[in-house]
Amino acid sequence: MKQKLIQFMYGRNGVDLFSRFLTYLGLVLVLLQLIFRGAVGRIFWYLALAVLIYAYFRIFSKNLAKRRAENAKYYQYRMKALNGFRDWKDRRRQSRDYKFFRCPSCRAMLRVPRGKGKIRVTCRKCGTAFERKT
Ligand SMILES: [Zn+2]
Repeated sequence: MKQKLIQFMYGRNGVDLFSRFLTYLGLVLVLLQLIFRGAVGRIFWYLALAVLIYAYFRIFSKNLAKRRAENAKYYQYRMKALNGFRDWKDRRRQSRDYKFFRCPSCRAMLRVPRGKGKIRVTCRKCGTAFERKT
């Protein structure tokens, strides 16, 4: 039985990080489908079905190059989201002493001390100056 499974999976993508994420997402949707009845529940049910079918399609797929590219892209998004969450937590922790602004021209995050009244902020990255209340 195990030998057969190994043979069957030979040359196939198998479970990667993205498939694992899709499987969890599918299970969450299944749970939501149990909570919400009626039309909304049905929508979650179809979404769960679609996500799980896609997850298994990826696991059994033989197009390894394409699946690896998808997995790499997912990994990038995941890192971005995790970093974004970490930065957000950092800002929250410092929010008593500092105020955070986004540079209006390059979108860089800038940190200034709180309680200094109206000040002129110069972006470290692109040099744009703008006024903000702290
Ligand atoms: Zn800037």
